[in-house]
Amino acid sequence: MKNKIALFKKSIEAVWRSASSWALANIIISLLKSFLPLALIWLIKLLIDEITLVAGSGRAQLDNLLWLIIAAITIWLLDEILSDLGTFVRKKQSIKLESYMFGLLHDKAIKLDLQYFENPDYYDYLARASREAPWRPNSILNNLVSLFRGSVSLILMLGLLFTFHWAMALLLVVVNIPGVWLRLHFSELLYNFQREQTPESRKMAYFNWLLTGSRPSRELRLFDLGNYFEKLFRRAFENTKEEEVNLVRKRTLIDLVSDLFKAAALFLVFFVIAKKTVDGSLSIGEMSMYILAFRQGMTYLKDVFGSLSGLYEDSIFVGDTFEFLDLEENIKAEEPIAKTISFNNKISLENVSFKYPGSSKNVIDNVSLEIKRGEVVAFVGPNGAGKSTLVRLLCRLYDTSEGKIKWDNVNIRNFEPALYRENLSVIFQDFMLYNMSVEDNITMGDIRKKPDIDKMVESAKNAGLKQLIESLPNGYKTVIGTLFDDSRELSWGEWQKLALSRALYRDAPLLILDEPSSSLDANTEHEIFSRFREITKGRTAVLISHRLKSLSSVDRIYVLDKGKIVESGSHEELLAIEGLYRTMYEKQTSRF
Ligand code: ATP
Repeated sequence: MKNKIALFKKSIEAVWRSASSWALANIIISLLKSFLPLALIWLIKLLIDEITLVAGSGRAQLDNLLWLIIAAITIWLLDEILSDLGTFVRKKQSIKLESYMFGLLHDKAIKLDLQYFENPDYYDYLARASREAPWRPNSILNNLVSLFRGSVSLILMLGLLFTFHWAMALLLVVVNIPGVWLRLHFSELLYNFQREQTPESRKMAYFNWLLTGSRPSRELRLFDLGNYFEKLFRRAFENTKEEEVNLVRKRTLIDLVSDLFKAAALFLVFFVIAKKTVDGSLSIGEMSMYILAFRQGMTYLKDVFGSLSGLYEDSIFVGDTFEFLDLEENIKAEEPIAKTISFNNKISLENVSFKYPGSSKNVIDNVSLEIKRGEVVAFVGPNGAGKSTLVRLLCRLYDTSEGKIKWDNVNIRNFEPALYRENLSVIFQDFMLYNMSVEDNITMGDIRKKPDIDKMVESAKNAGLKQLIESLPNGYKTVIGTLFDDSRELSWGEWQKLALSRALYRDAPLLILDEPSSSLDANTEHEIFSRFREITKGRTAVLISHRLKSLSSVDRIYVLDKGKIVESGSHEELLAIEGLYRTMYEKQTSRF
């Protein structure tokens, strides 16, 4: 219970922060509306009694009647106007909240450590939070308001019914109990069901993407995988939906039974009231008033219990949103925090070991190395040796399990991650393809400053893109990719050149290129590597490449195998010893 109240508090805070004036307007309108029904029913009673009186006396005294009609219509109109206004205000408020909650979700997703992205639970959290966050907090506010409004109207109606007979007020409450129990019970079942089904729903979305996405479309056709994925999609779909239909079927059945209870109660009430009217103990106006009051009372009771069970449901589901927003970021600055960063001397790795979360084996095993300012250093080694992992550690996307990485003798854990990363310019093996203009693709390398067109042109030229850009219909303004109108797709190597120019565009002291030339043609690769120092303007660089020939001019090569550094030296020095590097080089340069 304490936990649920805390969640309500957080939700209401979110609603308030996102749109306080709209939330206030919503509350005021709802409260105003709660007093109108009783006034209307009372006026209807007076009206019917007046009509009966006027009709019975045969006199044409219409003054009172006219005023009563005007008053009833005014109340009805006010109710309608408030309803319409309420709809508008709620819409406006919910849009503001949606935008605010998406902001929170996205901020969190940007800040979270990379290790979350490798954990299926993260995607479950994210899927559930994205589904609930935009609207649940608002539902809590609306349910609270509707609970209050419903309670006021209900108490007024119950009071009115009490003047007839206390049993009528009691009956109204009792017949609605099965419906409330049902909703509470099914909220919990539905939540547990949805929680269990989240991985299956994500599977469904994944297979749907494989069937409809652009990237998988070629392999799908050539390997004829369409029917296979369709079957997998259908299986996931049916697993999810079958259970849901079972739940809804049960709920509908119990709903029907509870409706029968209500119908029986209505019958009893109508019968007693009609009998009393025929006996002459009630006027026609009073008869109408009590019947309407009972009917309206049922509606308000339904609203009140509906709001209560809605709140219960909200409290269960909104937990997912805050569970996601409360995920901890572990990669942050540690004490003593270094406020400024400089790179005058060297980066050093001291006895660094690392294992991926959930894995028991060290992928990097006691590695020590140095990268001096201005040096070009290469990491080479067989697949799975740990080269990319070393780069991820250097970027502090993960923290080392043991050992330290120092930047001019300061542990990189002592810098704010954002400040530290400002000093890195990186292309990863799986670089990003942005379906945006060429200009955006390059200048996004340094989003902190206004785009520098000269620097952009120079970076594109250095990455071998000049000819391609000249051939594009709108030059640097051409949108790349296939997602949007008037865009133009590139070859994979051309995308890689674009990623390289993005990295070159950024003025960071350390450049890290993880297989930057894997898809480049031999001429471009030669052009880039023969002028590497000129292109990088003497910056410190770390290169990962399987093409050992292109590394002949780097200052130092670290050869990794199974997470350890097994050799290091210049290209010539490594060729002079009989080791892994020489074997790899000979295999690469020998004829088959
Ligand atoms: P390649 O030349 O194929 O790119 P690499 O030397 O860059 O290989 P890494 O990507 O660093 O190798 O991978 C090193 C080891 O860590 C491999 O055994 C790989 O399977 C494992 N590995 C990589 N990423 C993860 C991860 N996210 N979780 C667990 N293990 C991982």
